[in-house]
Amino acid sequence: MSDIAKATPRALRCIISMIGRTNAGKSSLINAICEQDVAIVSETKGTTTDAVAKPYELLPLGAVTLYDTAGIDDKTELGALRIKATLKVLYRTDIAVLVCGNDGIEDVEKDMIARFNDMKIPFIIAFNKNDIKNTSQKDIDFCNKNNISYVEVSAANGLNINQLKQAIIDIAPEEMKTDTLLAGDLFNKGDTVVMVVPLDLSAPKGRLILPQVQVLREILDTGAIAIAAKENDLTQILDNLKQKPTLIISDSQVIMKVAPLVPEDIKLTTFSILFARNKGDLATFVNGANAIDNLKDGDKILIAEACSHHIQSDDIGKVKIPNWLKKYTEKDLIFEFSQGGDFPDNLEDYALVIHCGACMLNQVEMGRRMRECVRRNVPITNYGVAISKTQGVLERVIRIFNL
Ligand code: SF4
Repeated sequence: MSDIAKATPRALRCIISMIGRTNAGKSSLINAICEQDVAIVSETKGTTTDAVAKPYELLPLGAVTLYDTAGIDDKTELGALRIKATLKVLYRTDIAVLVCGNDGIEDVEKDMIARFNDMKIPFIIAFNKNDIKNTSQKDIDFCNKNNISYVEVSAANGLNINQLKQAIIDIAPEEMKTDTLLAGDLFNKGDTVVMVVPLDLSAPKGRLILPQVQVLREILDTGAIAIAAKENDLTQILDNLKQKPTLIISDSQVIMKVAPLVPEDIKLTTFSILFARNKGDLATFVNGANAIDNLKDGDKILIAEACSHHIQSDDIGKVKIPNWLKKYTEKDLIFEFSQGGDFPDNLEDYALVIHCGACMLNQVEMGRRMRECVRRNVPITNYGVAISKTQGVLERVIRIFNL
């Protein structure tokens, strides 16, 4: 394993899951991909119980986690629990490899393919054990007819393992292979962009927070001119400028103060909206925010933050957002909180998930969290989109994205 693979937290890695029958050779295939004996391999059926995570570096995807899962046909005493654990892994799977051993594609595999399609998980079939048998024409015809990518491999002698790696890379969603801009596509060289940066109690001492720094860097990289100001100075800045700024980017927490100060012909958005667009799917977050209108008494809301920090008396996640939501909905809502790398498994219990700006997560991990919610029909939004909704300015701050 490279230093990069070791140093990348598990939460930030692309998750590739090996799914298949007991003894199809999932563990051996991970060994072959990693070129080391990292997974448990045994001729005894059902050796792999709960999913086992193995880190590996697969460029250009970077550090990935390979999940070695229990057999989907596991008939042992704990089989039902093991299969449940395997299916749970699918919620966080970015790419699946359906491993077929001696049996080829039968009903068990077809059921799993239907599940991948339902969950919109990109997948590939690895016909394993090609050192001792040939893939049947029936199975090849099935793949061709259904437009399914497949590779004939042998974990035992290394046949086509590099082709399998390439096939995994090929089916990976584009956002996993490239970094996209936060704001750099919204202005041009020579444009003026105003960043509204409040310095309240929750602002860290002596520095800007990561979203502000990243946007500032993109403004400078583009050759545009950056102006940073506190919300109380915005009117003076607009009065002093000879030309209107191309864009104003505000911290979400002061958007209710900023929006009325910005003339309608100046583009306005928030840092959180930019992160929502960059890290996930803005339309999904907007739908999630609109689900606030349907909340009822007793509904549970999950407030999820991707890193831990000391809680201040006016904490955005713990205090401000719950208060804004209660005020907006006038409902008796129950709030639960998660912090750090763990995203709860019991997502179905929530009527809404409100996620932080996710500046510490990459697109892959944020996309995975969104997919976990979408797959379970749980609306998800983020802090900034939710705040804009409760402050009545959501339409204004997403207008420039033509959703
Ligand atoms: S990851 Fe989330 S909680 Fe942590 S600093 Fe970024 S926005 Fe805040």
